[in-house]
Amino acid sequence: MEDSFLHKGLRKKLINEIRRKDLEDEAVLNAIERVPRHCFMDSSFVKFAYKDQAFPIGAGQTISQPYTVAFQTSLLQIKKRDKVLEIGTGSGYQAAVLIEMGANVFSIERHKELYLKAKATLSELNYHPHLFYGDGYLGLPTYGPFDKILITAAAPDVPNRLLEQMNTGGRLVVPIGKFGSQIMTLVEKTGENDYITSEHGYFVFVPMVKGKE
Ligand code: SAH
Repeated sequence: MEDSFLHKGLRKKLINEIRRKDLEDEAVLNAIERVPRHCFMDSSFVKFAYKDQAFPIGAGQTISQPYTVAFQTSLLQIKKRDKVLEIGTGSGYQAAVLIEMGANVFSIERHKELYLKAKATLSELNYHPHLFYGDGYLGLPTYGPFDKILITAAAPDVPNRLLEQMNTGGRLVVPIGKFGSQIMTLVEKTGENDYITSEHGYFVFVPMVKGKE
């Protein structure tokens, strides 16, 4: 799909809208400005691609709101060459934003249909994360440890298996809570068994579900 001047202009407007919501992490905003979100959307929603909203992507799932993508990415404090594990590939959009920030991205999706679609979209756009079809609760023990872990679905609590796959100095971001509203939670791993947990406001995500489909 073409990335036209119109799309680029709409992305600039979107960036300004996110900035007005008090998110001023320029590295993150620059990455979002480079990713053609319309290429990750279902055909019926393409015209809304640069609205700051979540939209359906099939299998009952959604592409996250750009503000939420910016917020989670900002909390991660991505550095170039960070090894990042994402749970919930979905459309692949968030993975592309992480790649634009210089991360080495590993992403897991539990819906085969979405995994296959994201794989095709990302490679067409020349983004090359390591994509896996599986249950994110298990992480990727043989590929870790990771510097950063991002969960893009609502979990009931911080998945311990994932914390074990994170380097000391690492950051894990996860929306914690039940259906309808979750608290964005940051866990910083400060030592082998030491963690600092902080909360960063309310968001709405689809649930993190065990197993794969
Ligand atoms: N990051 C995505 C947002 C997708 S919504 C994007 O940029 O488009 C959350 C995704 O998490 C859904 O696709 C859902 O299928 C997936 N998911 C939920 N539980 C999961 C699990 N246990 N393992 C892997 N993926 C999971």
